[in-house]
Amino acid sequence: MSLTVYRRITQVAFILLVFLLPVLDIFRYDAASRELILFGQVWGLGLKDAFYAEQGLTASSHVALQIFLRAILPWLFALALFPLLGFLTGRLFCGWLCPEGALFELSDWLTVKIIGRRSLYRSRPNDPEPGPVNRVVYPVLALLCAAVIPVAGGMALTGYFVAPRTILHQVMTGDLTFGVKAGIIGVSIYMLTTSILVRHALCRYVCAAGLMQMLFGWASPVSLRVGMDTSRVDECTNCRGCDRACFMNVTPRRNRRDISCVNCGACIEACHRELNGRGLFHFSSDGGIIRPAGEAGAKPACSRLTGPAGDTGLTGH
Ligand code: SF4
Ligand code: SF4
Repeated sequence: MSLTVYRRITQVAFILLVFLLPVLDIFRYDAASRELILFGQVWGLGLKDAFYAEQGLTASSHVALQIFLRAILPWLFALALFPLLGFLTGRLFCGWLCPEGALFELSDWLTVKIIGRRSLYRSRPNDPEPGPVNRVVYPVLALLCAAVIPVAGGMALTGYFVAPRTILHQVMTGDLTFGVKAGIIGVSIYMLTTSILVRHALCRYVCAAGLMQMLFGWASPVSLRVGMDTSRVDECTNCRGCDRACFMNVTPRRNRRDISCVNCGACIEACHRELNGRGLFHFSSDGGIIRPAGEAGAKPACSRLTGPAGDTGLTGH
């Protein structure tokens, strides 16, 4: 199986998980009862009523300990998750799990199929080959996606605050409360706007989870990255398959750590295809940070890249 197939599996599995967490009462906040539900149980501070009435040291210590253990500590763990992921895996989460990233890739794919390039605004040197273009099927598919996916996403995310059973009932009967309506419409507008107009620029410049992974991945000496076999750069045929595969507008042949790279592996696959299974790229965690070309320690870029320091003139979204 190809890396892309594995990646689609992990992306779909993570989307299913996001849908199922509130449905199965694994994780949701019930706005009506103001309770956090965790694995079917109400997650409270675990304070015993008797302690509220007491003013002594034992009661105060109990309250402080419970707040630390059941509120502050879990929150710290949650906050540390993305920096830790970034430190170890770079932006792997963005490329392999993030539902928004998957949605943006779907938007890219549909845009390529409809107008022959990734961006709505302009063509880029690294646009992929559009393949067979169908001016009927793909626009209909795009409309279908635009109608179904944002509403489904809106229902799923609203389910983190209103019981999913209640939402489903309200949607089926058409009798929606203000909160449910606002949740579904708000999320739908956000998803439509970002997936049509903004896409990966949001991943690069706005998403807090992405930024944390970027920063920690960039600074980490061990984080996962895509590296190039510099002893074989002369085997590059300059097919530009790796450039075209990269929806994050990275130029993998520069062979530098790029904070936009989401470790999707599309360039690895493209090069393997071109060089009959002996591609020049691989995942590695051999450290190194981005250094200006020419500086001591800078990794050599592919000699077939044009322009200064291998600059192809590619720019971000
Ligand atoms: S450089 Fe390669 S691994 Fe990184 S985002 Fe681009 S295609 Fe994916
Ligand atoms: S590095 Fe590989 S995919 Fe990229 S241009 Fe060279 S041969 Fe093609």
